[in-house]
Amino acid sequence: MIYYTKDIKCPMCLTKFVGREAGGFFIDGQDSDLFVRVQKSPLHIIQVEIHSCPSCRFSGMFSDFNLKYAEVVRKEFMQKVHPQLKIINPRGRTAPIPHEAYEFAFRCALFLKRHMAIQFMLALRAYWCMRLTPSVDLLSYNDLRAYEKTYLQCATLILDKRLKMKVAVIPKYRYLAGELHRRLGNFESSQKYFKMLMDFTGNLLPDYLKKASKSLYEAAGRGDGRHHSMESVLYGGIDA
Ligand SMILES: [Zn+2]
Repeated sequence: MIYYTKDIKCPMCLTKFVGREAGGFFIDGQDSDLFVRVQKSPLHIIQVEIHSCPSCRFSGMFSDFNLKYAEVVRKEFMQKVHPQLKIINPRGRTAPIPHEAYEFAFRCALFLKRHMAIQFMLALRAYWCMRLTPSVDLLSYNDLRAYEKTYLQCATLILDKRLKMKVAVIPKYRYLAGELHRRLGNFESSQKYFKMLMDFTGNLLPDYLKKASKSLYEAAGRGDGRHHSMESVLYGGIDA
């Protein structure tokens, strides 16, 4: 992966710092929840794309740091949100690791009433971080599963709310709703979303996701909430 640095200014406390961005990476495969695996690299691209202010811990993607807020909003952020952005069990760490930074960004997005698609993406990425180092090295098995569940619950809550609204959403979100509910063990909800996709006749859903929907619908029917790679879902490796 190629890295380059970028100057960043915090929109809340105005601290200036240097962040890192990724310029390129090689894809190795995909998991059934659309997490893209990349070829061996110290950090995954999603871990490079999240930034936290070293002073107030406002967090987000690079574009979130380009936004400007009125002083009244910045004051409210410092009073209400800043105290919530704490590193749990820091063991000497002063900066959040990626899943913590995504959680902080999620809290910032809720406070700022950012679009549901942004809130969902942040919760989903926090969940994806649970299969990457350093999170998997620093957390116990039980803590990893607990964080995973919390992030999945946040992501599905937002998705369910969004999908209930009378607005057009791309079918990929219904696919993710089906798959994330399956991972949570909500098999009835999972099957409901996958069934919609199996009956879907439009051309906005790639064929491979339609095929995956059928396999994962059946997996949910068997009470299978396990993690799967997209390769095993498409080529029949998940029947056991
Ligand atoms: Zn700041």
